[in-house]
Amino acid sequence: MLPLVKTQIKKIKEYKGIISDKLFGEVERLSKSFKGLKVNLVNSTPRGGGVAEILKSLVPLMKGIGIKAEWYTIPPREDFFKITKEIHNALQGKKYAFPFWHRVRYLQHIERSAFLMKDMKADIWVIHDLQPAGVILYLPHFHPSICRLHIDLTSPNQEAWNFFASSFGMYDRIILTSKEFIKKEIKEKTITFPPAINSLMEKNKPLELKRAKMILENLGINTGNPLISQISRFDPWKDPLGVIEAFRLAKKKIPNLQLALVGLFLARDDPEAMKIFKEVERKAKGTPDIFLFSNPDQIGSLKVDVFVNAFQVGSNVILQKSIREGFGLSVTEAMWKGKAVIGGNVGGIKLQIENGKNGFLVSSPKEAAKRITQLIKNPELSQKLGEAAHQTVKEKFLMPRLLRDYLKLFKEVLS
Ligand code: UDP
Repeated sequence: MLPLVKTQIKKIKEYKGIISDKLFGEVERLSKSFKGLKVNLVNSTPRGGGVAEILKSLVPLMKGIGIKAEWYTIPPREDFFKITKEIHNALQGKKYAFPFWHRVRYLQHIERSAFLMKDMKADIWVIHDLQPAGVILYLPHFHPSICRLHIDLTSPNQEAWNFFASSFGMYDRIILTSKEFIKKEIKEKTITFPPAINSLMEKNKPLELKRAKMILENLGINTGNPLISQISRFDPWKDPLGVIEAFRLAKKKIPNLQLALVGLFLARDDPEAMKIFKEVERKAKGTPDIFLFSNPDQIGSLKVDVFVNAFQVGSNVILQKSIREGFGLSVTEAMWKGKAVIGGNVGGIKLQIENGKNGFLVSSPKEAAKRITQLIKNPELSQKLGEAAHQTVKEKFLMPRLLRDYLKLFKEVLS
């Protein structure tokens, strides 16, 4: 059996009054057909990054409506995760030769994982992302099975895509976030719906500005001066170097501006983070007022969720200057807290931010710098965009909506 990730049970009624009555009723109605249904969800890491974050909240909600949902991970293996991170980057568009031995190593670990799964039973399988996706090659009788891809597939590297397209094609359905990611080989099986956040978890619960600022002060930030933050893994697609460039440009206009780049090393399937962090450290050297958070020891006994919440609440502006992004949970989390977010004009972020209405979309460090300056100098505008941002999340990006979309899909694949 695969390693199990322990999860709690969450009742949908806790969302009453937060989500619309219509959505609440829809979930309740759909739930009736699924009592006792066994659903196994599989991904590659129990913590760190967006997928683990979603499963941590989605699985308890599924359990809360009577589904026997369980979350499993494939066993960890360092050389496998090095290769899958390269494939992940390739599927997001990076040049990559995909050497023969990478294919072999990938399949070797997939075969081992499939071996651990062979006697497991479920009414529905939901496999998340490319790391475990290949198990279907060894378990073609596992049906119905759904593959949920969280990456930005706008322009994948062809070598990597060709290798994976046949595995993806063996699933009954593929879930992507945006219609822009649909590829012809899997078009007929594809359904699109975006991820969501859990507004009830500690990270997204209301946190008083005063307390947030106190936490930031303890971490060395001067809360008397303006602060911009990007809360993201150290990853090339999140463009932390571009954020530093934007910060330097904005600092010419706002000399006391501070920047925090927050990306604790938590995800075991992201061995590239350290390398990118070193590049960021080099680039940040010599520029004052840049704060980097990568080592979990830096936050001592503070809970990660409270730490992230404090930055999202206590910053004047939140950035997510990605150059590829399946969907930025960090964007939605900050929008939920009424922040004006400046996001890269790419992938899933375009579904989250409507330029000028609930945040800003940018395509270069220069544009980002312009928007940073504009927002810091105009708190009324920040507040207006932030209020619209909160409303967007309430209507579109909270966990019960994601649960409803899954339930509808389950209904379809079972019929
Ligand atoms: N996050 C965190 N600690 C950090 C940095 C990020 O808990 O130091 C969380 C962040 O709050 C969000 C998730 O990691 O919930 C990142 O998800 P996102 O979709 O933004 O990016 P991904 O890592 O999936 O590419």
